[in-house]
Amino acid sequence: MGTEVSAGLFERARRVIPGGVNSPVRSFGSVGGTPRFIDRGESGDLIDVDGNRYVDLVNSWGPLLFGHARREVVAAATAAMQRGSSFGAPTLGEIELAEAIIDAVPSMEKVRLVNSGTEAAMSAVRLARGATGRAKLLKFIGHYHGHSDALLVAAGSGVATLGIPGSPGVTDGAAADTVLVPWNDRDAVTAAIDRHGDDLAAILCEPVPANMNLVPPADGFLAFLREQADRSGAVLFFDEVISGFRMARGGAQAVHGVVPDITVVGKVVGGGFPLAAFGGRADLMDHLAPDGPVYQAGTLSGNPVAVAAGNAQLKLLTDDVYECLQGATQQIVTAFTDAFAQAGVTAQVVHHGTLAGVVFAAAAPTHYDEVAAADHDAYATFFHAMLDQGVYLAPSSYEVLFTSMALDQAAMQRVQDAVGVAAHAVGRR
Ligand SMILES: *Cc1c(COP(=O)(O)O)cnc(C)c1O
Repeated sequence: MGTEVSAGLFERARRVIPGGVNSPVRSFGSVGGTPRFIDRGESGDLIDVDGNRYVDLVNSWGPLLFGHARREVVAAATAAMQRGSSFGAPTLGEIELAEAIIDAVPSMEKVRLVNSGTEAAMSAVRLARGATGRAKLLKFIGHYHGHSDALLVAAGSGVATLGIPGSPGVTDGAAADTVLVPWNDRDAVTAAIDRHGDDLAAILCEPVPANMNLVPPADGFLAFLREQADRSGAVLFFDEVISGFRMARGGAQAVHGVVPDITVVGKVVGGGFPLAAFGGRADLMDHLAPDGPVYQAGTLSGNPVAVAAGNAQLKLLTDDVYECLQGATQQIVTAFTDAFAQAGVTAQVVHHGTLAGVVFAAAAPTHYDEVAAADHDAYATFFHAMLDQGVYLAPSSYEVLFTSMALDQAAMQRVQDAVGVAAHAVGRR
């Protein structure tokens, strides 16, 4: 597999872009090797600039539920662009997208559209603070809510991948208002709320955490968080940027039957464009300007092209889509599990509905420290062996794999063949 063109571009990129990438995990820093520069996507495949073809199990980190360049999405975005790419004035499409989100996720009684998950989470935190008049946030270690100051403390995703405990540039003041608790630990939550409850603006979580690999909630844990939020008067904040529209049309809250006060969605909702949203109880959302005093704004928010793509993708979300995605995920989980067993490799293929992740450890992790203690070198070997066999996984053991509706049986066969080889490569280390 040639990588000369990618290697040349990476060198050129590094001269003008820090680390050669516009988001850290893309640099292959934790797995080594040359990041592949992508020429194009074709349905379920990625094709790089050297002409290598991969089955895509990243799908832009989640947004592409239907693979690349799905025709309905392309048509909608193209049509919108021909009418003008941005107006800075309201459009019909924004109402339609807000209505579609609310229809899918009823706890979001009103929504506001923004441009990224980071922006949505940051704005929702300001809203929670503004509405409650309280400052502190309860955050789970290893959960990722974007890269705004208060939420970057002990975050997952690229922060975990690079082993950065927090980040220089985040002030002690911003960090001091974030109370950290291990995921799935009821005693720690109870103790933190006993101590900080009166100052707590929000309890934040990814209801199905997928930025410290995949660590599903223990039975009843989300309902317990609901009770604790009610006990303290804090806002319960579900970050469904990954799980929203991917686990189910109604997100993790529909699957687990727990209703938050504020929800953040991103990724799938934008159909592959920079679009995210936050929403929740109408009485909370009415604190936002211009109705209320909590300020939040955006020149390109509700961008008509992004909104058209989002609307087009959400229209495709029928119940059988989720059955199909679950089937595809199950097939991959079975193939991976069998391959590791055959190769005598100790690995956990963690599986929760339409999400799955690979952790090289003796038991499935229940919180961040157990993910951090896994064998990350084994993952790097596995990742590169899969890449060499033409399967593109996330270049970090803190991330999950994302299936799409574009994975046909031929793609599944390629994944199955690849994992047979890759599992043995890990076994031979
Ligand atoms: C990706 C992600 C974000 C950040 O979204 P961006 O669009 O990358 O800013 C926030 N929360 C979760 C759970 C995510 O997975």
